[in-house]
This record gives sequence, structure tokens and C-alpha cells, in this order.
Amino acid sequence: MNNDSPQPTILVVDDSESNIEMVLAILDNYDVIPATSGKDALDMVASEHIDLILLDILMPQMSGFEVCEKLKVSEQTKDIPVIFLTAQKDEDSIESAYLTGGVDYVTKPFKPVELLARVKVHLDLQNLIQKLEYLATRDSLTGIYNRRKFFKLAEKMFATYDEHLYAIMLDIDFFKKVNDQYGHNAGDIVLKQTTDVISSLLPSSSIFGRIGGEEFAVVLTASSDEQVIALLDNIVSTYANTSMKVDSIHEIQCTLSCGMTQKVESIKTIDDLLKEADAALYEAKQTGRNKRVIRAARR
Ligand code: GH3
Ligand code: MG
Ligand code: MG
Repeated sequence: MNNDSPQPTILVVDDSESNIEMVLAILDNYDVIPATSGKDALDMVASEHIDLILLDILMPQMSGFEVCEKLKVSEQTKDIPVIFLTAQKDEDSIESAYLTGGVDYVTKPFKPVELLARVKVHLDLQNLIQKLEYLATRDSLTGIYNRRKFFKLAEKMFATYDEHLYAIMLDIDFFKKVNDQYGHNAGDIVLKQTTDVISSLLPSSSIFGRIGGEEFAVVLTASSDEQVIALLDNIVSTYANTSMKVDSIHEIQCTLSCGMTQKVESIKTIDDLLKEADAALYEAKQTGRNKRVIRAARR
């Protein structure tokens, strides 16, 4: 989410410098980036975080419609709201603007208050959508991905990568005892701190989710088995050495069991991959806990 940025960033795309100047003057309370061609606009969205785009239609080389179409097919830019800002008043242009994915259509000449109001409406909407998206995809206690989102992202990873893809299942050992001894609230604190420790050690490109009560899963890419094994050893030992303050008097330590497996040819789905990792986790539980087990699937 983009809550920490002080001001939303708006990209204004128009081949006329004077039009850009005018819009800049109206939007002087926002962080505005100008672009004078479709190509410049696409380069800009690829390198900068943009919250909203004001897009002219008639421009040489690439029209606003073409720019919008390109934005809407890219995963990285498809959710940026596009307001067309144009002299075109014909019905075909208006229809095309919405069909290509625009959220609003403002015709020139326009009143400054109107432009400001529409920009604010769409920024507010975008903010709300991002908040809802966050709530719908995160586990409310720990802030990591919930089960549904984890599987969605993991499936994508599975489709994209081959033998460099790994799955890890992690489960807190004897977690029930924490609840029994210190109460459910203490258990919740342990869950949160557990995911904080694991998150801090995972590579940033990993997908990390809570898939059950005190069960977590990770899907990640790595260049070698050794790299993932070192990561697991680090997680298991760092966690075992972490003291967690569960109430005003008690600081406790817990341990984790982990199972890891690698994607190989015989594994056809993400469910199969996670099942293998789960079998490895089961073995870790059966053979003493506070450890990791690597399961090499048949190639
Ligand atoms: P093992 O080492 O075999 O994994 O034993 P365990 O006690 O960790 O596992 P078990 O599956 O027997 O117990 C898991 C417990 O996790 C039971 C359940 O009450 C607790 N739990 C599940 N979700 C939450 C939660 O959100 N908060 C708290 N505080 N406890 C939870
Ligand atoms: Mg457990
Ligand atoms: Mg369990």
C-alpha cells in the first residue's frame, strides 16, 4: 500500500507543453510528473510509483488510447486509474476511452474545480480499493498473506519457475501448550512474533502465508538446494533463540519444525509440491521437532 508517501503522484501526459503547464498550476498540491509523449509516459510508469494518470488522447506517434491499452495489459500498471483529459467531445472517443480502461473523461476546456474534484474522487477510490485488497489478502493477526492469497501467488510462482522453486512448511512445536499455560492472548503474541522472525529472514521475493492455525508456508526461488537449507537452518536456530514477551512477567522461547521440498518433473501441481513439503514437516515432527527435514521427490 502507498500509505507512507506524503502526497499522491500524478502523471500528466500531453504533447502540448502549455496544457501541461496549466494542469501543473491547478494540481499544485500534488506531486505531478509531466510526460509529453506516450512513450515517455510508459517509461515513467515503469520506473516511478504513479497513483493516477491524466491522459491526453490526440498525440503524435502514440495516442492516449494506445497508451491506456498498454497500461491495462501490464500486471504492474493495470490498476493505476486513468482519467482522459482531452479536447475530443465525440461519442466514439468517449466510448473508446472507457473501453480501453479509463475511469473518467474530462473535456477541455475544463473548470479547475472540476478537474480537482475528479482527481480527488479517483485517488480516494483507489486508496479504498488498496485498503480492501490488503484486508482481503492478509491474515489479520500476523499481517502475512492469508491462505487464499498464498495459494493464488504460489500457483503463479509454480507456473513460472521450474527446478529452482522450493516449498517450505513450518509449524510451531507444542504451540497448544503456550495457549494452555499462558492463555490465548499470549498464543496470539507468539504467532505474530513468529511470523516477524521468519519474515525478517526470508528473501523479499518469497511468498509467505499463514495456511492454518500455527502452520505457515513459503514458496521461494533459489539457485541451489544449499541456499535453501542454509536459510532453513538459520530460521530454525534464530527462532529457537528468540525470547518472546507474552505478558508483563513471562518471556518464553518456542521452536519450529520445517519441511522443505523442491519442484521436480514428477510434481505437477502446487498442491503436490506443498504436500511433499508437508510430508517432510511430518517427518520433522516425528523425529524430534526443532529441526528441518528435506524431502527429495522422485525426479
Ligand atoms: P505440534 O508440535 O505437533 O505441532 O503440536 P501443537 O500443539 O503445536 O499442535 P496442535 O495442532 O495440537 O495445536 C495447535 C494449536 O494452535 C491448537 C489451537 O488452539 C491453536 N491455535 C490455532 N489458531 C490459533 C490462533 O489464532 N491463536 C491462538 N492463540 N491459538 C491458535
Ligand atoms: Mg504445532
Ligand atoms: Mg498444527
